[in-house]
Amino acid sequence: DVTKSLNFIEHIIEDDLASGFPKDKLKFRFPPEPNGYLHIGHASSICLNFGLGLRYNAPVNLRFDDTNPAKEEQEYVDAIKRDVEWLGYQWAEEVYASDYFQQLYDWAVEFIKAGKAYVDSQSAALIAEQKGTPTESGSNSPFRERSVAENLALFADMKAGKFSEGEHVLRAKIDMASSNMLMRDPIMYRILHKAHHRTNTDWCIYPMYDWTHGESDYLEQVSHSFCTLEFAMHRELYDWFLDQVYDTNKVRPKQREFARRNFSHTVVSKRKLLQLVEEGVVTGWDDPRMPTISGLRRKGYTPESIRNFANTIGIAKRENVVDVSLLEFSIREHLNRVAPRVMAVLDPVKLVITNYPEGQEEWLEAENNPEDESAGYRTVPFSRELYIEKEDFKEEANKKFFRLKLGGEVRLKNGYIIKAESCTKDTDGNITEIQCTYDPKSKSGSGTEESLRKVKGTLHWVSIKHAIPAEVRLYDRLFTDETPDQHKDKDFMDFINPDSLQIITGYVEPSLLDANVEDIFQFQRLGYFNIDKDSTKENLVFNKTVGLRDTWAK
Ligand code: ATP
Ligand code: MG
Ligand code: MG
Repeated sequence: DVTKSLNFIEHIIEDDLASGFPKDKLKFRFPPEPNGYLHIGHASSICLNFGLGLRYNAPVNLRFDDTNPAKEEQEYVDAIKRDVEWLGYQWAEEVYASDYFQQLYDWAVEFIKAGKAYVDSQSAALIAEQKGTPTESGSNSPFRERSVAENLALFADMKAGKFSEGEHVLRAKIDMASSNMLMRDPIMYRILHKAHHRTNTDWCIYPMYDWTHGESDYLEQVSHSFCTLEFAMHRELYDWFLDQVYDTNKVRPKQREFARRNFSHTVVSKRKLLQLVEEGVVTGWDDPRMPTISGLRRKGYTPESIRNFANTIGIAKRENVVDVSLLEFSIREHLNRVAPRVMAVLDPVKLVITNYPEGQEEWLEAENNPEDESAGYRTVPFSRELYIEKEDFKEEANKKFFRLKLGGEVRLKNGYIIKAESCTKDTDGNITEIQCTYDPKSKSGSGTEESLRKVKGTLHWVSIKHAIPAEVRLYDRLFTDETPDQHKDKDFMDFINPDSLQIITGYVEPSLLDANVEDIFQFQRLGYFNIDKDSTKENLVFNKTVGLRDTWAK
């Protein structure tokens, strides 16, 4: 959409183009680490990078930042690809930081030969101690002046697996007095005797993020590398590493930062989400209560609603907490346009139409979506005994109660006008049955005078004989606190909502037997519901996606 105003990231690109950067050299990447499933925070980064690709007709790589074999797995790679595709984006190339392990190693050898890197044989604790503080410069490692020959031999032996973890590291020789702590001889390689999901046991030394990321951008000729704000201080190092290998005929990648997004009533950190999965707080990464892309998908969110949400909240320079009700607004708005309407009763009470012939049934025509004419019509069965929602009937009520009360009339959606005549109660006073009469001439759409008669309320219902019982999963927020992981004195796990899932049996119209997993419906007057992957023809399972209106505000 060219008419929308530019965000600050787009301004950076526009400025570069204005000062002569060739448009056909623009290239972006989305760089997830495959150590978990993508979450709604990643959606911001995905929509930013792939959105830029679409805006400038530029390629966008999907780059797996896979330099830590201890935490990364093929399952996560597969899930990430599935989610990005589902969100509606196509990457130019699927690439991996591990594709560059040999090139990075070769460069590191060049660094050693040029006196720009050395093997340090001190413990991690000692190295940390010598780093100094932001106000005090660090001190040089006693190994800093090792000879090139000795460094080359040690580095080769590190690669050959002759040492155990922690015995040596390779460090860039920059400046132990730099005001930027990250420039104080940063570690380039550490020894990890762990199999990698792609390179298996080919390597037992693995490059660090800072050493890998900029060089990967450079190798792919990414022009603009956008990351979150915590990397702002890393930019100087990103540039220093690039300076050592940069060929002036090539595109020099540029790192720029934007703010990480936080969302109310949830956590968006793969580590914390993994903890929820591992401790069984949720059933998996795609549990509908999870803020993961796959969880939202399973809950009935559409790619459009997530993209619209990400584009609406946009890209910020400063961190803030985005209210999840904005995401709910986005899905409600989309589903209102596209979700077929059906009838379901979730908290039933029996209603008998005493003047409707016993044994008779008829199929009433029902509009699938008043917002979309092309959605057409279906038929729903009607008979003498129906379910309506318990809360839609009261023996007595004031004038503002537009539902059913004794002596009062309502229209049954797609059906007839009925009048409540009496009701039956159990010994505890609970209403067990409502007896009504109907006006046979009042059938919706029949064109009769009676059918056009206005009554205040319209109720949804299902025919008991034809209704299909279904498992309905109702979700509440996973955390009781608005910012569960931002308390100094408490852990986010202390705020788990014990009632985040409620499972009930509802009764749905029989047309839903033909629905497929992921199909999403509006249960009229109740909200949006989709078919869960656990659903079968014998045992329908629905997830509540979102209610018809924002009830959190109350
Ligand atoms: P996590 O803490 O969840 O592991 P991460 O930043 O380490 O987050 P990556 O897999 O490295 O996760 O993320 C890929 C890209 O998505 C990065 O560019 C990262 O900055 C961006 N990203 C991750 N989380 C958010 C967020 N909450 N808001 C915006 N962008 C994010
Ligand atoms: Mg990361
Ligand atoms: Mg991470």
